[in-house]
Amino acid sequence: MEDYDGPDEVVRRRRPDIPVTCFRPAALESAAKWFLNNFPGKVLYAVKANPAKYVLSGLYAAGIRHYDAASIPEIQLVHELCPGAHIAFMHPVKSRPSIEQAYFDHAVRDFSFDSVEELDKIIACTGKSKDLGLYLRLAVPNTSSELPLSGKFGCLPEKAPEILKMARKASKKLGICFHVGSQTMDPQAYVTALNLVAGILRSIPRTRIDVIDIGGGFPSIYPDMAPPALADYKTAIESGFDLLPHPDRYEFWCEPGRALVAESASVVVQVELRKDDVLYINDGTYGSLFDAGHLGFRYPVRLIRPTPGGTSAPHKAFKFYGPTCDSIDYMPGPFFLPEDVREGDYIEIGQLGAYGNTMRTDFNGFSAHEVVSVKAPPLVTLYDDTQETTDSKELCVA
Ligand SMILES: *Cc1c(COP(=O)(O)O)cnc(C)c1O
Repeated sequence: MEDYDGPDEVVRRRRPDIPVTCFRPAALESAAKWFLNNFPGKVLYAVKANPAKYVLSGLYAAGIRHYDAASIPEIQLVHELCPGAHIAFMHPVKSRPSIEQAYFDHAVRDFSFDSVEELDKIIACTGKSKDLGLYLRLAVPNTSSELPLSGKFGCLPEKAPEILKMARKASKKLGICFHVGSQTMDPQAYVTALNLVAGILRSIPRTRIDVIDIGGGFPSIYPDMAPPALADYKTAIESGFDLLPHPDRYEFWCEPGRALVAESASVVVQVELRKDDVLYINDGTYGSLFDAGHLGFRYPVRLIRPTPGGTSAPHKAFKFYGPTCDSIDYMPGPFFLPEDVREGDYIEIGQLGAYGNTMRTDFNGFSAHEVVSVKAPPLVTLYDDTQETTDSKELCVA
């Protein structure tokens, strides 16, 4: 991967006519350090947020040792890049062959489930082994999240006690996990979920529970979605842990995806045509901007003019079309850019480390893109230096 000071240097030296992902190793490291220094338990990286090799290796180098995978290819990838990593297979619905392969070929011992049927599958496909970690995925309210995930998975709280008792007999470690929804804007969502867990724990005092896994959902920052400080999430989660009966009895896990990787990449795109307030750019919803189109996400943007002189024009709102011939390849924004933006200009689109590059397709032949590494800080950040402890500074130097 080539190294540059920043996206402007990439544009100046290369004038790229395909999208360029600008990877920021330092931002990835800051996010990893925040979670490692602040979460009182194991930090599992949810691989789906960005499975790029440089991201997995970067997180590993920063000290992340636990991974939440959802498929055999994700498990293989982590094995390949992260020696000795602990991998948990946290997809509540798995094929039988994938359970077998995970257990027998990849030494995975931790599996999630949200039904008796899936529990039976896991037990059967692992030869009724006695060393399983089983994690019941609980349905919890997703009302504070921008991207609710509660419709598809989750055991209803009233059914949980019975299933937990059944799973206890088949497991070495037993846990409860949940997901409050992606990009959760209110830290209280974790407290609400942990309160539900507390009720379940009180109803089965004789069933030992070893692990409480609060899942992902930690936010990143976008132009119209500025979440509370991450420190507020930490405080809320710790107060949620205190609601549990005997809080010192459990091992705590979290599974951040977005928050660990969002700031670690931006994408530099080029304007191919302007029609009034619409810009036709060379990346779109079939590329790294799926969420900008289908979920209406607004990302931070910045103009990079390739010719000398720059611009000081006032900003106005623009919409984007992507490069394919499909009219749903459309990103409404609004994206605020200098009003004199024109064909040939470049736009840096930030916070695409999470669920950006990952979603690329080959549709219409527009899959070509490049990845470079840059030293420049992210366009926006939730991790400022003041949050760093002495420890992490020392580690950075090493
Ligand atoms: C997607 C996912 C995550 C990560 O979610 P973020 O909102 O990106 O933090 C964590 N755990 C599970 C089970 C997931 O499916």
